[in-house]
Amino acid sequence: MGSTGSIGTQTLQIVDQFPNRFRVLALTAGKNLDLLKQQVARYEPSYAVVAEESDAEQMQRWYPSLKVLCGREGLEAVAALEEADLIVMGILGFAALAPTLAAVRAGKDVALANKESIITAGSLLQKEIAHSKGRCIPVDSEHNALYQLLQGRNREEIRSLVLTASGGPLLRQPHLPLDEVTPEIAVKHPNWSMGPKISVDSATLMNKGLELVEAHILFDFPAKDIEVWIHPQSLVHGALCFKDNSYIAQFNKPDMRCSIGYAMAYPERLEAVIPALSLKDMAQLEFLEPDEVRFPALRLAREALASGPSHLVALNALNEIAVHAFLGKKLLFSGIPRLIERGLDLHASVPILSIEDVFTVDSQSRALGQSLLP
Ligand code: NDP
Repeated sequence: MGSTGSIGTQTLQIVDQFPNRFRVLALTAGKNLDLLKQQVARYEPSYAVVAEESDAEQMQRWYPSLKVLCGREGLEAVAALEEADLIVMGILGFAALAPTLAAVRAGKDVALANKESIITAGSLLQKEIAHSKGRCIPVDSEHNALYQLLQGRNREEIRSLVLTASGGPLLRQPHLPLDEVTPEIAVKHPNWSMGPKISVDSATLMNKGLELVEAHILFDFPAKDIEVWIHPQSLVHGALCFKDNSYIAQFNKPDMRCSIGYAMAYPERLEAVIPALSLKDMAQLEFLEPDEVRFPALRLAREALASGPSHLVALNALNEIAVHAFLGKKLLFSGIPRLIERGLDLHASVPILSIEDVFTVDSQSRALGQSLLP
């Protein structure tokens, strides 16, 4: 799901690599009809979903025997298809929450790349996962690393979790005024090839803020026991510190296909999904402290987590609004954390008891975010 995006296209590369192991049952896109058309021709799925009805009609004209659905109902329907064994969730943003829930409730195994659904629905989603027949394997590289590291461990022996962060495109440009950071600069990630939204999140360090919350929710560790290390080479993705202060870490080249493939094949491992690391690759490994003054997003995420679940829904919605405005050149780069902080200050905490509460706070927070745009 989200087959036209960065995670989606890399998932299909794994299908290409292992054609006897995976068969594509459904593909879902948002608006990129041209790419979806090519993907349908190549992978011959039984179902396709697009965001708009008019695009669904067009798709149906191109492929009369394909079952074409649209919108949220279409996404929920394919996420729960009886014939589906595994859902790879690569839809961007909050839009992934409803289909992720549908997949979990239908007992599917879910390879979950989308982080916004975990941040916003947190414990509700975890409860559904605990009752599901299926497994939920995180695809996000750091959480995938921690998932691998935590296999078979005794929780009592672990002191802390470590998430690494590349530092994004601005790490090596400490003198560049943040007001002068354009979308072109912000999306130019030094190590990873990702979609524009997560690339901007990486530049603001909000990606790491969201990931800290994600790790707290997925692995049930207090935020104070989750460390963030800037590691510009992006070879070490996560580490555990045991109570005797011994560490173990997970390494691989910065290529999302490694964690996507792990989640798709779990509990087995695929053969050489990506090239191996050489000693030359590892000749220089740096680890630095995050600059939380220049990039306040980590602090904002920690504060939102401490303030309660509705603040996390607001954090995500405000960030999505701010990043979208920045990419559309309607907000300065430095305005992103300012808008989020202002919005969080104005957000009055409410209990989140159901998924409907999540949707309500999300739409209120989006309206608040829009009203704070210049
Ligand atoms: P992209 O922007 O590259 O792709 C997003 C996908 O979601 C596209 O297929 C897009 O369709 C679809 N989509 C967007 N909005 C909607 C909507 N409202 N309804 C239905 N489909 C929609 O994003 P990424 O692949 O980079 O990221 C996807 C998720 O994975 C994010 O949550 C991100 O945080 C997470 N992630 C991504 C990583 C990466 O390396 N890219 C790494 C770790 C996590 P279309 O383009 O056709 O409009």
